[in-house]
Amino acid sequence: MIVILFGAPGSGKGTQAERVAQTTATPHVSTGAILRAEVARGSALGREAQPIMESGALVPDDLMVRIIESRLAEADAQDGVILDGFPRTVPQAEALDAMLARNGREVGLILYLEVDPDLIKDRILRRASIDGRSDDNPEALAERMRVYQRDTAPVVDHYRRAGTRIESIDGAPPIDQVTEQILTVLGGLATGQPVGGAEPAP
Ligand code: AMP
Repeated sequence: MIVILFGAPGSGKGTQAERVAQTTATPHVSTGAILRAEVARGSALGREAQPIMESGALVPDDLMVRIIESRLAEADAQDGVILDGFPRTVPQAEALDAMLARNGREVGLILYLEVDPDLIKDRILRRASIDGRSDDNPEALAERMRVYQRDTAPVVDHYRRAGTRIESIDGAPPIDQVTEQILTVLGGLATGQPVGGAEPAP
């Protein structure tokens, strides 16, 4: 199944996507990680993306769609992936839906990690002091939150309108408990049991 782990910067989606991917043996596809690897390699793509990422803005949609298209074409992605950081705009979501539809596939689930903005700010500034991500400074963070509200939050409405299953996850508790909530949702889907937190169908 194609699962989108959705949430604001600092909501914990990267951490959770990695844990859930490991537990369920599903590939974790993080566009932020792909871009950071390109920056580290010093590739043409990395050189183009680096200043954009450092400012907290978004890398252009066409570039991101090409990256995801080639990643989803790889053999290990055919049974499903956990998408982290993509789609981040409605045009990206539309392009994703179209590329999946060409292969008779679709987004199966949105896991929507919800976290209070004040808690997010604390987490990101703490992460900055731990792993030194160059876009974890107060200015870039403010820009990333603006971009999230303006461009990324509408992606959930896009999938709500499409009737895609959306499950809200409380992202505030400690990491293990959030993982537990997500695995409960995924386990419920696998066994066909009803799960908590599902949004009613439109
Ligand atoms: P992340 O690790 O998901 O927080 O991504 C870090 C940065 O990479 C973002 O702030 C953007 O500059 C860029 N980025 C990652 N994914 C995307 C995307 N889907 N569309 C545009 N830019 C992206």
